[in-house]
Amino acid sequence: MNFASYAACDENSRGRKYDEPSPAHRSNFQRDRDRIIHSAAFRRLEYKTQVFVNHEGDLFRTRLTHSIEVAQIGRSIARALSLNEDLVEAIALAHDLGHTPFGHAGQDALNKCMQKVGGFEHNLQSLRVVDVLEERYADFPGLNLMFETREGILKHCSVKNARNLGQLGERFIDKTQPGLEAQLTNLADEIAYNNHDVDDGLRYGLIDVKQLQDVPLFANQYQKVLKKYPDLNPRRVIHETIRRMVNEMVVDLIETSRASIAQLGIDSIDKVRDHNTALISYSESMQEQTQAMKRFLRESMYHHYRVKRMTAKSTLILTALFEVFMGDFQLLPPQYRQKTSASDSEVDQARVVADYIAGMTDRYALAEHGRLFAPDQPS
Ligand code: MG
Repeated sequence: MNFASYAACDENSRGRKYDEPSPAHRSNFQRDRDRIIHSAAFRRLEYKTQVFVNHEGDLFRTRLTHSIEVAQIGRSIARALSLNEDLVEAIALAHDLGHTPFGHAGQDALNKCMQKVGGFEHNLQSLRVVDVLEERYADFPGLNLMFETREGILKHCSVKNARNLGQLGERFIDKTQPGLEAQLTNLADEIAYNNHDVDDGLRYGLIDVKQLQDVPLFANQYQKVLKKYPDLNPRRVIHETIRRMVNEMVVDLIETSRASIAQLGIDSIDKVRDHNTALISYSESMQEQTQAMKRFLRESMYHHYRVKRMTAKSTLILTALFEVFMGDFQLLPPQYRQKTSASDSEVDQARVVADYIAGMTDRYALAEHGRLFAPDQPS
């Protein structure tokens, strides 16, 4: 594989926490990607909400399809910039492993429940899944991933939490940058959700094409499509528009990033990390357009009353589950109950409950809520 001098690779990696011999016929980052795909947390992504709760319909994105889209977009960009595609794929497939059921509503609810005992943050939880919670290998806890994969998974982190993370936390304290593969996957995530949320929002009827005429990113491509294909059916016009939006964002990102890397003479991963800003970025005009799209989605879609209702319901469910387990650990399934003992601090006990709840899929959380609260359901 011919990587650029600024790419992360086996040779310049900071390695794994527990030393292992390199695989015979794969790179270390291919191994990371493979371990993520074989994890239980990865399989659960299929039944976790992106924006829409799983039972709302079969065509909406789930965390799994979202993660696959991020990997696809990320790999295209990585290949164009001669970066480490396998690393990008590994980060993309793992970036949402720590998400609670019910999307951001679930994360906010759990964070509120955990306020006095350290809070809950899905990025940190994704790291916790791959570092600790997956129990699969004989020689180490978690998946024992490469430093660069873990660096990419931990997109954000408070300075307070970063202090407990050793080398991985340093960049949040020193305000330095992660490798280019991490920077890239972060933006591939954004490209994926900005576009698929428009698609899902239109399909669900939360937003309409008329409103989107005020969002230049959509409107420009939409007008071009209508002009070229005046008789195309509306559904295909939307797909064609979204496909062009994805392409426009990806091309802008590749060209802008390639130019800044060349202009600044970046030729090593150390220079990437020491540079004062992220090198993977959009042009100024694309930056403005994506901000406008995000603002639109926040105001018109994420705050739509029907989404708010889903949010409210999930908050009630997760809060009730947290409180009932904190009130009596005997109600936890044995494999989680074994992790707590009466002598544990409240902080440790709450973390076990949070791990259990965060690991649930949407439908499992609903079923567990039924088993604990619905008088007419078996326990
Ligand atoms: Mg994501």
